[in-house]
Amino acid sequence: MRIDIITLFPEMCESFLNESVIGRARKKGTVEFECHQLRDYAFDKHKRVDDSTYGGGMGMLMKAEPIVLCFEDICRKLDKKPYFIYMSPKGKVLTQERVKELSKMDNIVLLCGHYEGVDQRVIDEYIDEEISIGDYVLTGGELPALVLADAVSRMIPEVLSDDLCFEDESHYNGLLEYPQYTKPFEWRGKEVPEVLMSGHHANIEKWRREQSIRITAKLRPDMLAKAELTDKEKAYIKECMKNVEK
Ligand code: SAM
Repeated sequence: MRIDIITLFPEMCESFLNESVIGRARKKGTVEFECHQLRDYAFDKHKRVDDSTYGGGMGMLMKAEPIVLCFEDICRKLDKKPYFIYMSPKGKVLTQERVKELSKMDNIVLLCGHYEGVDQRVIDEYIDEEISIGDYVLTGGELPALVLADAVSRMIPEVLSDDLCFEDESHYNGLLEYPQYTKPFEWRGKEVPEVLMSGHHANIEKWRREQSIRITAKLRPDMLAKAELTDKEKAYIKECMKNVEK
């Protein structure tokens, strides 16, 4: 997969994309990233990427032309029109489900806004989807683009050391992850749950599933409606909810 990022701050993106798990995947070529400096596509006399808004108001807006020239350049290099996403607080909030779907695409282009955002005509004519990372407003789209790039990349085979390890994780199957512990067995008087020391895989699996359901019921009961659960588990949730309410 290849992810192109259109931004006024490519260094900010590069520094993240070269580190840790994502950095290693990038070095191996499992996932490709290309960060594009939008200023390189500002060809007017003053090389402006932003201007004041029609109708008045504070703040500046990113101009349409440099964004579209940059996108067209990417299209030419890829020899196709990739899926174009604008990171925007007005977009649909990103979910693990959408992350999984996006990870199956060969190419995506992420547009990072700044200032007041971007000229609406770019959104209307070129953007396939607006995605938000949450109901709050940041100063720019770089962090949201990196959040999306990170979440999508780790779903790509061979990016994580064990491809199955995300299957138990929070949100993957509509539940939050069970609690986990590492050494020492006893820490400040608190011991690791006995079942995890038993070596009995079926019992460990059962305990983890129950814990996942219990934690989801306690912290994110809104998620339970969509989770795939057996009748027995639904009854267990009813019990959990009684305890949460107490
Ligand atoms: N005036 C815009 C509004 O009220 O919708 C907010 C612009 S914001 C200050 C500047 C840029 O940050 C946006 O163009 C967008 O790219 C990015 N941004 C801010 N919050 C975001 C969020 N929650 N999710 C995704 N992108 C966001």
